[in-house]
Amino acid sequence: MEIAFIGLGNMGLGMAANLAKARHGVRAFDLDAAAVARAVAAGCVAKASVADAVAGTDAVVTMLPAGHHVHAVYADVFAAASAGTLLIDASTIDVVTAQAVAADAATRGLSMVDAPVSGGTTAADAGTLTFMVGGGAEAFARAQPILALMGKAVIHAGTVGMGQAAKLCNNMLLGIHMAGTCEAFVLAQRLGLDAQTFFDISSKASGQNWSMTSYCPVPGPVPGAPSNRGYAGGFASALMLKDLKLALAAASDSGTPVAMGAAAESLYALFAGLGGAGTDFSGLIKLIDGSWER
Ligand code: NAD
Repeated sequence: MEIAFIGLGNMGLGMAANLAKARHGVRAFDLDAAAVARAVAAGCVAKASVADAVAGTDAVVTMLPAGHHVHAVYADVFAAASAGTLLIDASTIDVVTAQAVAADAATRGLSMVDAPVSGGTTAADAGTLTFMVGGGAEAFARAQPILALMGKAVIHAGTVGMGQAAKLCNNMLLGIHMAGTCEAFVLAQRLGLDAQTFFDISSKASGQNWSMTSYCPVPGPVPGAPSNRGYAGGFASALMLKDLKLALAAASDSGTPVAMGAAAESLYALFAGLGGAGTDFSGLIKLIDGSWER
């Protein structure tokens, strides 16, 4: 199968590499030439534009930062795709944009699913992402085997946009439990409790959560976590802030009280405003313990 992959950043690179490893022809395009070069080193073929990547492919996968990037890229995708090309947007964006772009695709006779992911860069590299997919049954059935090459779980969330609905609710919860986990570690240490000891206890007690056991904000307990590399790479705080803003907008539209989500959003807005936007979202702990320096 020939697959166009557009957006080869922290997440997209590992995902495209896994498609190439499965012996699909992967045509890579990103605005950043260095990202394309990394994709070529991982077995993809460099393309000079969206149109160049998409023409003649069986499927298109996009992994872009936000809704406006998705709008812009799909204008070019629609112009170059042939009938029968399956469109898969794995970016995390708002439900309304996902539904609008998919409706636009449908008017052109193209099938599209929203397939945002959970799992972070380690899972993207390892091919163990969780995909939450919105779209019709037929489009889901076509997308499933492609997504399964990049993930350990591919779940049909419902109609178009429901993948994004699942993702923004999940990430609101992630932002809340990361902020809470950072607070708990800082408080534990100030009370005189060793961080590793607190981890050993809480990871087996009722405070256990993914932000602690898979992505610990304190260096040491989880060797692969960004805290062990100065909070570089991983999931940028700017992207967490974007997701929390999406969740708050959806909560406002649906009249849902989300005080915890709002508290997490204001912490991440403060962190981003103080220069933490490019830092992994677990770096919030440095704001909470007072050691953050721009
Ligand atoms: P990133 O910023 O590292 O990568 C995005 C890539 O898209 C960049 O390489 C950028 O150059 C490229 N791009 C932007 N506009 C483009 C255009 N018009 N044409 C071609 N390329 C373009 O972001 P990321 O961390 O890989 O995240 C991508 C998406 O996945 C986001 O929506 C994010 O919320 C979501 N996500 C990220 C993580 C994570 O841990 N990083 C986890 C789950 C979901």
